[in-house]
Amino acid sequence: MQFAGELIWKGRAWPAAEIVGQTGETFAFKTGGKGRPLELVGPAAWWRNFSDLNLDDPSAILDFTRRRGDPFGLLSPTTQGDTGGWKYLSGLLKLAASCWTTIIPPTSLCTNFDNGHIIEALLASPMFDVTFVPHVAEIRIGASVRRGLNVHIIPKDLGAYMVASAVLHLEDQVAMAICQHCGDWFELKRRGSMYCSPSCRAAASTEAKKGRNNHG
Ligand SMILES: [Zn+2]
Repeated sequence: MQFAGELIWKGRAWPAAEIVGQTGETFAFKTGGKGRPLELVGPAAWWRNFSDLNLDDPSAILDFTRRRGDPFGLLSPTTQGDTGGWKYLSGLLKLAASCWTTIIPPTSLCTNFDNGHIIEALLASPMFDVTFVPHVAEIRIGASVRRGLNVHIIPKDLGAYMVASAVLHLEDQVAMAICQHCGDWFELKRRGSMYCSPSCRAAASTEAKKGRNNHG
């Protein structure tokens, strides 16, 4: 039986985030504004971007916080966040990422027959902080639809969302690739896809046209 659960993330990215200080290896950041609401259904492959993040680079830290949010959900217009737990989270996600090939970039395959020990390590981590909410939903069986039991997986914070995404990707051995426009990891649903989204594909094609025009 396939696992009948749906990962749902409702959070906030902080486009106005700024670094305010550094203590040892830890950067503190603050933000103004209301942030940008994010609502995602299903796992996202950019947990691998977090696993690759250079935590000594303030601009990489800001870029992630501005686009995705604060992994530990501390940041708000009235409270600062910091990168205190980021190394631990990134190490955990590195462990998950080690199950994917890096031989022929940008495509990356999860070819292990058994990922159980890595999934177990992720589930045992305090970072995997999720609530399971059972509910009745439409279940598709071939051409017919019936109503039946389903589970929503609600992560406590963005970090838990990324760990849960990694767990689901390990379970389904999802093939991934790096977007040739924005550099984000994405689920490779069709062989040879180069972009994470229609908007990245469109942006890349606009740039290519501009490039051609500039060269006469
Ligand atoms: Zn992209």
